[in-house]
Amino acid sequence: MSEQSDPPARPPETPERRIRRSWWIFVAAYLILGSIAITRLGTGTGGLTDWLVVALVAIVGVAAFRHREAAVALEVGRREEAESFARILSSLSRSVAPDAILGAIVGELANGTGADHIVIARRRPEARILDATLVSARAGVPDSTTRLPIGDLEDPIDPSGKPALREAVPIPVVADPPALVEAGRPRGRFEDLAARIAEATPLATPLATPGPSSMVGRNVPREGQIVADRIAARTRKVYGLTNTLAAPLTTDGIVIGAIVLSHRTVSDWPEGTRRLLNGAASEASSALSRAYSLRAAEADATTDALTGLPNRRYFDEFCELLARRRRSDDAVGVLMIDIDRFKVLNDTHGHATGDEVLRAVGGAIVSAVREDDVPARYGGEEFVVLLRNPSPAIALEVGERVRSSVAGLDLSRLGVAAVTVSVGVAVARQAEQPIGDLTARADEALYRAKRAGRDRVVAV
Ligand code: GH3
Ligand code: MG
Ligand code: MG
Repeated sequence: MSEQSDPPARPPETPERRIRRSWWIFVAAYLILGSIAITRLGTGTGGLTDWLVVALVAIVGVAAFRHREAAVALEVGRREEAESFARILSSLSRSVAPDAILGAIVGELANGTGADHIVIARRRPEARILDATLVSARAGVPDSTTRLPIGDLEDPIDPSGKPALREAVPIPVVADPPALVEAGRPRGRFEDLAARIAEATPLATPLATPGPSSMVGRNVPREGQIVADRIAARTRKVYGLTNTLAAPLTTDGIVIGAIVLSHRTVSDWPEGTRRLLNGAASEASSALSRAYSLRAAEADATTDALTGLPNRRYFDEFCELLARRRRSDDAVGVLMIDIDRFKVLNDTHGHATGDEVLRAVGGAIVSAVREDDVPARYGGEEFVVLLRNPSPAIALEVGERVRSSVAGLDLSRLGVAAVTVSVGVAVARQAEQPIGDLTARADEALYRAKRAGRDRVVAV
């Protein structure tokens, strides 16, 4: 490798260097002009023009000093803003749960903007509910959560941009603030199971989808801001806030809520605060999108697409989890449910009708078991239910309830007269009876139910 002795490269001229040079030129010209005028006056050769020059030099001096002060203040403000934003970004990158994401930016916004209160209004992905949580910047003041009218989010917007509010909407106050208090704690599978089943089964009330005139689905930043302002107007009314500044929260281009800052005294929010709020809202929006799609992917992997019930993978994982947590006297039961002569039904009515019947049977099973129990589609035309703490008699009773609930299905719209199931029941009452064996034993009982003539419940 040969060494070359290039002349040292000149450092690139930075804006700081240019500013410093301009200042030197300015100060030099200023001093020269000032001293000429003062000398002329001192030696008695000066006149009115020299007095004028001295006065102007004094004025320019004061103006320059004040300019410098303002520039420094601006610089400090920008630096603080950038630091706040960096902290927001770093806390967002560590948060994967939606509540943790919002919790993380609330704290930073309170510090970075000097707001007295911050309101996070957000539509939850599983509901047509707009929750608002008011967080005070003062330590020790508890959060307060309120339900806002969903129309604030979904109503068509006034093209003039005025945040018009519909009147006379009852606003129930939720006593126990659920959202930000629990920041960072993802919901357990036990807790969201019922919600997921209710959402996915055809028996449950379907989620109402917003109408075509709604804001939802449009990706227009200005409209997003109008919705945010409408939500801000509502929060001013609900919480008695005065000066607010709002930015929309969106996921995948759909407005799902807003962040609202409030201050008792400031009426004009500084430009830096606006920038910080908009930046934080946009980063929080991306983080929420990521969190929601992660959740959706997780749910997909454990949900049976046809019936919306948990799938076999979920069921097996759940059993494993339960086996590890089980106390010695916890009883566990399994119902193994198989549709009778389903092949004939498929052959007679077609596969599509067979699918509809599978959905209906799934719904009937869900409606026949308690919320604590875990129903799943085990595969094909087989379903399984994990029963928590049943006595053998209760397990048999639940099995019978499932059987009669399916037998009672009205399938006339499908042109199907009736469908029946056979059910095998097994219960493990002591810890030494492992859950893993239970499904095999319930399967044995099911086989006996089939041989005994179908449409019946048999316990081991
Ligand atoms: P048995 O009373 O002994 O249980 O008789 P069966 O006909 O129900 O049992 P078999 O195991 O012979 O047939 C099960 C049928 O279930 C065959 C298969 O085509 C059908 N099946 C499995 N999965 C699906 C599905 O997702 N959709 C539809 N439509 N049919 C399915
Ligand atoms: Mg089968
Ligand atoms: Mg069958």
